[in-house]
Amino acid sequence: MTNTNGNGMSALVDLYGSNVFNDSIMRQSLPKATYKSLRKTIEEGTPLDPQVAEVVASAMKDWAIGKGATHFTHWFQPLTSVTAEKHDSFISPTPDGRVIMEFSGKELIKGEPDASSFPSGGLRATFEARGYTAWDCTSPAFVKDGSLFIPTAFASYTGEALDKKTPLLRSMDAINRQAMRVLKALGNTSTKRVMTTVGPEQEYFLIDKKLFDQREDLILTGRTLFGARPPKGQDLEDHYFGQLKDRIAAFMSDLDTELWKLGVSAKTKHNEVAPAQHELAPIFTTTNIATDHNQLTMETMKKVALRHGLVCLLHEKPFAGVNGSGKHNNWSMATDDGQNLLEPGKTPHENLQFLLFLSATVKAVDEYADLLRVSAASPGNDHRLGANEAPPAIISIFLGEQLTDIFDQIECGGAKSCKTGGTMNLGTESLPSLPKDNTDRNRTSPFAFTGNKFEFRMVGSSQSIAQSNFTLNTIVAEILSRFADRMEQASDVEAESNAIILEVIKEHKRIIFNGNGYSEEWVEEAARRGLPNIRTTVDAIAAIRAEKNIQLMEKHGVLSRIEMESRCEIQYEIYIKTVNIEALTMVEMAKRQILPAIIRYKADLADSIGSVLSIDGDAEIEKALFTSISDTMKSFSAHLAKLEQAIETAAHLHGDTRAQAVAYRDLVFAGMGALRQDADLLETLIDAEYWPLPTYSELLFNV
Ligand code: ADP
Ligand code: MG
Repeated sequence: MTNTNGNGMSALVDLYGSNVFNDSIMRQSLPKATYKSLRKTIEEGTPLDPQVAEVVASAMKDWAIGKGATHFTHWFQPLTSVTAEKHDSFISPTPDGRVIMEFSGKELIKGEPDASSFPSGGLRATFEARGYTAWDCTSPAFVKDGSLFIPTAFASYTGEALDKKTPLLRSMDAINRQAMRVLKALGNTSTKRVMTTVGPEQEYFLIDKKLFDQREDLILTGRTLFGARPPKGQDLEDHYFGQLKDRIAAFMSDLDTELWKLGVSAKTKHNEVAPAQHELAPIFTTTNIATDHNQLTMETMKKVALRHGLVCLLHEKPFAGVNGSGKHNNWSMATDDGQNLLEPGKTPHENLQFLLFLSATVKAVDEYADLLRVSAASPGNDHRLGANEAPPAIISIFLGEQLTDIFDQIECGGAKSCKTGGTMNLGTESLPSLPKDNTDRNRTSPFAFTGNKFEFRMVGSSQSIAQSNFTLNTIVAEILSRFADRMEQASDVEAESNAIILEVIKEHKRIIFNGNGYSEEWVEEAARRGLPNIRTTVDAIAAIRAEKNIQLMEKHGVLSRIEMESRCEIQYEIYIKTVNIEALTMVEMAKRQILPAIIRYKADLADSIGSVLSIDGDAEIEKALFTSISDTMKSFSAHLAKLEQAIETAAHLHGDTRAQAVAYRDLVFAGMGALRQDADLLETLIDAEYWPLPTYSELLFNV
């Protein structure tokens, strides 16, 4: 596919989606009526006919077997950060002792994995352990590693969603319903469906597998719990968009190939700001498929890295003091007849439809900032949001110069004109003049308008994008429903729409901020504006249980009260477990690796001091070093004891998960920081030969 023998192009075209049971395969392999009926279900959400499922199952099986599959699996996304799969073979014994390959419509539609070992946040206590998976025909099935993967939703025996896909699909229905009402009120008679679209840019680190294997923290927690700052970090900014090293380029090309086979449209790849950090962006698609594809992308990155002797780190902050990784969730709304509802066009100030959908998003983000914030909350992401790194934990919107100006004009009585970028002359005949964008970029904003979509930049690199997207879909659906209520009643829809837009601008301009989101001044300014600054996951989680948010999710049929409450519990549990594992790993490394190394070095240093003294009676430098190490070691030991005590205390706080999570944050997590400080100082004091862990320089600059 990458060769240049002239067949490269067609080879790539053949390769793309070759392991996907996609539309063209369906068209070829299904009887016309079946194909049409399935398309109707996929596109219009009509109920699936069981007979159709029977025919599709059979065609799917034949196609998958042709691709080397022997098994099938219902692939789902429980409330952890990874996907789950349980494989069954197609074989079915015959009376004469042979087997035939079978796969029924029933098996395609429904699976029954035991739900008892997946997080349920209390739903399990009240209900049975039985769980069901249900085929999601809107995301195509594919073959991977000898199995046919069927994307499914996962629910409890009584129908509560136990996964991330179910609310996402429900939220897509919700925003479709409400956006259609607004479009109809505007006089649109041709659009049949509104979808949300997402292109998630994925950041990641690659490090050498041999070094990774020497670090228990990386193995068990995905991040370095110890490690002094390297002399060179990202200071020179020479890594961003830098030339790809051969080994990285080979990995990326292999990754592209694997993703293309699965129909994931990996498009852009480049080096990121931090050393050893990279990014991949796909071409956008519907929120549902984009979410499935992002999970596949993360899994494939990990797998392909190993083939190259590398390990892919998806943790939000694998290295302290070096940029962490996030996901840029580019989000918009599109119609089945090809409109992007967030496309401003040439004259945005006159584009009522655009201004309505834009205002709905602005209002939604301001009113439900807490829900959006918790959608990006995770223990790993706490190291980015609210720490000394972008984006801040305060939700604000960057609109850019052109739209902010239009908003200002509307507020002052009506928009008469709009600023345009014009063209840019580069000062020499030999270079073309370039059309200038209407607005510059702002990389510090957590929610930035980037021309024809919003970019939600808070999501953590290892998180599923499902929660952020079902939140966005639902909050915007809610505001659109309020707009539609008014527009449907209005005698003059245009006047009513203009009134709505004006109200939004007046009530919600506090959320618009085009300046530097990383600055201290913004933190103060945001406080004056009354915008919430929710620094930690533990504080963010409460939003899930807030009455206004439960009502919102119930109203749009996205999550029930009981589903919300269980999710709240699960987020606390995940926080508690993650910090607990990290703290225990630190204790183990401290006791079994770091302390023994210091003891060995001190003993040898003491010997040296003795030898030196016997020769010239002066070993001041050696002694000073010995004292420094001894003092730091004492502090290290004390902090270690304190951390062990904190873990003990927090672990025994049963009953109230919120209180326990608070203890893990305030006692355990804080204690980890203190212990690390001593260890990182010790690393700089003792002989490199004795230090038991690969250093930051080795990890970051060795690929
Ligand atoms: P940058 O890093 O400059 O923000 P990239 O090209 O790396 O830009 O990523 C932009 C992402 O936005 C891509 O995944 C792209 O497919 C996605 N995108 C573009 N248009 C839309 C849209 N209308 N809806 C959703 N995502 C979009
Ligand atoms: Mg981006």
